[in-house]
Amino acid sequence: MIIVLKQGTTEIEREPLCKRLEEKGVKVNAITGAETTILGLVGDTSVLDLDQIKTEDVVARVMKVQEPFKLSNRKFHPENTVISVGNTTIGGNELCIMAGPCSIESQEQLFSAADDVKAYGAQILRGGAFKPRTSPYAFQGLRGEGLLLLKQAKERTGMPVVSEITNPFYLEMFIEYVDILQVGARNMQNFELLKELGHINKPVMLKRGFSNTIEELLMSAEYIMSGGNKNVILCERGIRTFETFTRNTLDISAIPALKTESHLPVIVDPSHASGITWMVEPLAKAAIAAGADGLMIEVHPQPKCAACDGAQSLTPTMFGEIMERLKPVANAVGRTLK
Ligand code: PEP
Ligand code: MN
Repeated sequence: MIIVLKQGTTEIEREPLCKRLEEKGVKVNAITGAETTILGLVGDTSVLDLDQIKTEDVVARVMKVQEPFKLSNRKFHPENTVISVGNTTIGGNELCIMAGPCSIESQEQLFSAADDVKAYGAQILRGGAFKPRTSPYAFQGLRGEGLLLLKQAKERTGMPVVSEITNPFYLEMFIEYVDILQVGARNMQNFELLKELGHINKPVMLKRGFSNTIEELLMSAEYIMSGGNKNVILCERGIRTFETFTRNTLDISAIPALKTESHLPVIVDPSHASGITWMVEPLAKAAIAAGADGLMIEVHPQPKCAACDGAQSLTPTMFGEIMERLKPVANAVGRTLK
């Protein structure tokens, strides 16, 4: 970190600030020019409050020279993280496809979706049991019963399962029933939940919040990783912009940005990004071309009757057709698709 002092600041005037910084364990190197002095801070600057330093009387500007995220940073871990779940991997050369209904509605619905997405090449089954809905009057999910059905679908198909956890209270149940714990966009900065997920030994898929920056997403990953759980999967699912045509705006540039800054796998969710069935395919193709390690796609046996997100859900047949058309795109960028 570099601190530029206001012009004319004397050594005596800067002394109290230097002392406070040194008390935090960082070394302060002052470089004095004709009119301006800059302080170069060496050591663990993550403990410093940048905004507070900016308010100091003698400070003109503060610049970070290193990213605040460490464990998720590619600089300190150059090779890609590859996460194993069941017989499949996430972050390797083969793309990982997670597919299934937005919410688990019944055994019949879930089994039908599970059989179909497996047949069409998905490796991981998704299904929401605890649904974070905007309206308290909307379907809230089958909750514990839904997780039980998901476990049965796993036993039936052999596919690992992913489901969203909204509250640390349910952690034990999720550890028992689910292979990948999903943190939804609405909970990306639920720091108490993230801390709890840092202590488990199951992978966590962390979705980007609607209004969160790439750095904030990586800092949330840092919360989980600093607790000891290094198996974090990042998910770009669209952000809020002024555009209303789509449900969200898929930030394609987040994919190369995350892959450059971090070694963690990146999954893209074109279903929640677009909110529109016909747009899932072009966004999925763009995501693969931009370097995504996989996709999360909503598939429902009868989207028109879905309890949640029918407007963006594919029928199993559509999913199968799209999977075929994604293969050449994957191959064109040196990846494989089952
Ligand atoms: C979901 O995947 O079920 C979901 C609610 O997505 P998001 O958190 O991205 O809105
Ligand atoms: Mn959904």
